[in-house]
Amino acid sequence: MDLSKLSPKQLLEIDACTRCGDCLRFCPVYSQRTEEAINPRGKIQAMKKFLRGQYGLWARVFGKKKLDEAELEKFSEMAYRCTLCGECSVQCPVSIDSRSLWLAFKEMLVELGHYPKNLGVMKKNVLAKYNISGDSNSSRTDWLDRLENLPPHRYQKERAEVVYFIGCVSAYFPMAHKVPQSFVRILERSGVDFTLLGGEEWCCGFPLIGAGFRREIDGFIRHNIEGVKEKGARSVVFSCPSCYHTWHENYHTDLNLFDSTQFVLNLIKEGRLQFNEEKIKVTYHDPCDLGRVSGIYESPRAILRAMPGVEFIELANHGERCKCCGGGGLLEMVDPELSAALAREKIKEIQATGAELVITSCQQCVRTILTTARRMKIPLKTSYITEFVLKHMK
Ligand code: SF4
Ligand code: SF4
Repeated sequence: MDLSKLSPKQLLEIDACTRCGDCLRFCPVYSQRTEEAINPRGKIQAMKKFLRGQYGLWARVFGKKKLDEAELEKFSEMAYRCTLCGECSVQCPVSIDSRSLWLAFKEMLVELGHYPKNLGVMKKNVLAKYNISGDSNSSRTDWLDRLENLPPHRYQKERAEVVYFIGCVSAYFPMAHKVPQSFVRILERSGVDFTLLGGEEWCCGFPLIGAGFRREIDGFIRHNIEGVKEKGARSVVFSCPSCYHTWHENYHTDLNLFDSTQFVLNLIKEGRLQFNEEKIKVTYHDPCDLGRVSGIYESPRAILRAMPGVEFIELANHGERCKCCGGGGLLEMVDPELSAALAREKIKEIQATGAELVITSCQQCVRTILTTARRMKIPLKTSYITEFVLKHMK
């Protein structure tokens, strides 16, 4: 087992887990599958056992214990059944950054060859085609074809102040196309000097990191930063919270990075964006990578408050306690049924608010909630926040 994947802080954290079980009450996966080995405490204890066998006193005196392949496989099954929602990190009384631990555990499992095989296929696609769908990367802006009155440059200019980084899901999954379609219109109508990178936008690297293939992302980081700099841009705006977070954490750039809600709120504050009134009751789902992981809770709410006629009702679990919709951490690829079970819980919570519409700021959350609602034959209305903003723009 490769200890170098764990920082000294993480080694201390593994030791520091008091097994209090506070995290168990909050883990959405554990609420659906109540096995000790799947919850945060269980995963930390399993890793502790592996490390003792490899590096503990016994190992120093008698040599490392041979890793048990069946135990590793079980551990892998549990480690990959996690949405990376970060709720365990937020709730842990001894402040264990467990979300980062899960990423490190996956890296260790990848080195040992114990990871879901379809994630290996995803990795091949990303490395060969630079996107998660496996389609040609030059078709990254095909969603533009369904917009009318496009400017001749199709939002792909030689130079611009701002680059809008779309992300793979919005670019390639039809259910999410409204996200970039609405956002480019908002930017255009607000007079923002922006461009897309077109086929030169590569996956941000998040799916690789989330699956444990972090060592593969350096080329992606270099390419995307160079693409932005070639445009002469100083700012990058993201509609995908996972892209936003990945840039923030891993790109180490001096570029200004904005999530779409921060960017839209700035436009409102500058008076570049005004709204028509519509009486409507809405609720808001905090995407894990935007809320807990990036700490952005206020800007989407401030946008909704700025819209006349909008009655905003919070979900029972919101902000730091918002429940994952099931779409995070590649769980949908690994265990679609478990992912759907989380989405069903989310839908029940949304329905309990009595809102006419659920708004969120993540294309993956829109996809997950909407797909599950359709399967359940529930006429739930969902909207990405820029879609809602565009609809009400003067
Ligand atoms: S809340 Fe923290 S200390 Fe308690 S069991 Fe969970 S990870 Fe361990
Ligand atoms: S990140 Fe979320 S799903 Fe994963 S163990 Fe923590 S609470 Fe559970």
